[in-house]
Amino acid sequence: MKKLKRYRIEPGEKVDLSRHPPGDTAGAKDGREAAEEKALELNERLEVLQERLWAEQKHAVLVVLQGMDTSGKDGVIRKVFEGVNPLGVRVAAFKAPTEEELAHDFLWRVHSRVPGRGEIVIFNRSHYEDVLVPRVRQLVPEKVWKARYGQINDFEKLLAETGTTILKFFLHISKDEQKERLQERLDDPEKRWKFRKGDLDDRALWDDYTKAYEALLSRTSTRHAPWWVIPADKKWYRDLVIGSVLVEALEKLDIRRPEPREDLTGVVVE
Ligand code: AMP
Ligand code: MG
Repeated sequence: MKKLKRYRIEPGEKVDLSRHPPGDTAGAKDGREAAEEKALELNERLEVLQERLWAEQKHAVLVVLQGMDTSGKDGVIRKVFEGVNPLGVRVAAFKAPTEEELAHDFLWRVHSRVPGRGEIVIFNRSHYEDVLVPRVRQLVPEKVWKARYGQINDFEKLLAETGTTILKFFLHISKDEQKERLQERLDDPEKRWKFRKGDLDDRALWDDYTKAYEALLSRTSTRHAPWWVIPADKKWYRDLVIGSVLVEALEKLDIRRPEPREDLTGVVVE
């Protein structure tokens, strides 16, 4: 995809989400069908690259997915990673912290779930929840959540310097689109289980969450761990952009097919 960079937040950039249209499909000039075909090709390429990553056991890849309720985090995991070999791919989901987790620093539960060499790990929510919920709901003093931006940058720097490629995606939907998706959840017997009344409380705090997202996007997009703001009102476009970013990043790693562990010349299988 051309001009993918328009969705990347540069280090130090001050993010104003009202200038990032959630319904944007500008990178898909040939329309939806062509985009879906392209996404399928990307998915096949991802399968190959992931197999090599797993075989080579050298690089680790961390994919962070953040976004409001119904923004499509589960959908991305299902669609973009469809068919990749589960041997080398894991999903880690983060819920409200348990008592034990709260008794530790906020990165404790996160660090133990990062990818090892050869692995891709997808974070469905992440350590970024700790500069969202506690801030918006005033669960901890301001100086505590403010210090976390720097702590997160240091943590991600450590991961990057020790062989982890970090890709962070903010799935950006509009408030209207969320209304439709929540209503759909409520109405569809197969999706109803996902609906929680608490989601409406968060929805009522939409503007506060938007501000908290703008702050974290502005403060934690770094060279070693950039944020991508993904227009996510159109699911097909969301998947195309994320697939493109992932494949481009993995191609850059220049992963080699490993050599056999011993000299196999002349070996014949009878
Ligand atoms: P879901 O991803 O829809 O299953 O919901 C998980 C819930 O856990 C969401 O409401 C998150 O905001 C909440 N959550 C995840 N991490 C944290 C955190 N560190 N602090 C507070 N709430 C969190
Ligand atoms: Mg939810």
